[in-house]
Amino acid sequence: MNPDPTGLYFAPTGIAHLTATNTDLIRAAARDRSRLRVTTAAQLNGHPHLGTVTTIMATFALTARFSHDLDLPATLVFDALENAPAEYRTINGRHYTRNVEDLVASGQLDGTERASGFRRLLAWASARSGVPWQERPYTAYQQLAPVRECLHAIARRRPEFAPLLAPADGRIRIRPRCPRCRLMDKDAHHLTITAADGAVLLDSACPDHGPYRETVPVHSGGGWYDANTPVRSVQKVALLAAERDLYDACSVSIDGPDWGGAWFAHVIAPALALLGVPVREWPVSVFTPMVLDRTGGKLSKSLYVKYGTEYADLPPAFLDLDTLLDTYGENALEALWEEAGRWATEPRRLHRSYTVDYLASLIPTARIGEAA
Ligand SMILES: [Zn+2]
Repeated sequence: MNPDPTGLYFAPTGIAHLTATNTDLIRAAARDRSRLRVTTAAQLNGHPHLGTVTTIMATFALTARFSHDLDLPATLVFDALENAPAEYRTINGRHYTRNVEDLVASGQLDGTERASGFRRLLAWASARSGVPWQERPYTAYQQLAPVRECLHAIARRRPEFAPLLAPADGRIRIRPRCPRCRLMDKDAHHLTITAADGAVLLDSACPDHGPYRETVPVHSGGGWYDANTPVRSVQKVALLAAERDLYDACSVSIDGPDWGGAWFAHVIAPALALLGVPVREWPVSVFTPMVLDRTGGKLSKSLYVKYGTEYADLPPAFLDLDTLLDTYGENALEALWEEAGRWATEPRRLHRSYTVDYLASLIPTARIGEAA
């Protein structure tokens, strides 16, 4: 008979055998450091769904566990990506976007509403775990010197980075926006990237307003660019490596499982090697469990929005934190927090996936398939 009180079974996995506790994942990197600096990120593209909620909770739970085990103070930095695309247009067969920040600036989106679910969750998890957090908007993030130094390195060494960052077509997606209407050329068809002395020059063209240039100085601030996920992700590890010295910190990124496995092997690890970051300065990457739909795929809010109950017969509360709280109250957060604590405590629970039905079974009064 299965002795586990949660009813789960645990297949043996390599990493769970290798570590006695999850803190072993960061123990060497934290040696002789005076603090832990943990980052996580999310696109501000609406209300967090169950997968995002559990990732953020696991991030706090793991940080609290690391901080306790190593007796080091910890801070959690939440990278709020307000550069998430919010409007899509196709003009002459090319794809263009405007992002959340631009639509907030033009009054088409409510910025507070856009971020409120995340802030509510972060504040709750911070209070529950005792780990302080700070929010870093993308506008501030993209100006940080190590992030721009990495951008300059990518611009300077495009032939080396293109196979990692754009293996399909070689077009590295760094995106300036039209200074007049803020439209961005999503697939970088019109883009020319130039590594100038102390700046990256981005030349592009707006279908309505013609050619323009964005100058991105490496060290003096000013300028703005968006970048797609692989570029941002490589800049992020470069930043975390630099922050080890800037803050005398053990830098840790904790993210959802999409960014482990193949992504880490094909994008991040080779990019760290190309950038010449010594292994002892590599930031530690920890990945939270994946929440699965009933077909074994990653639980996806966009698929739910597109296909509705045909995709997943779930209460809407599971796809939207605000509805979850309105329907099940704080008890739902408590139940998920308890689970995240188990993940943080036991390697065999951290390194596995969970079905949405399993998580639903933890929430008091939640009955899957019932309308919330
Ligand atoms: Zn324009």
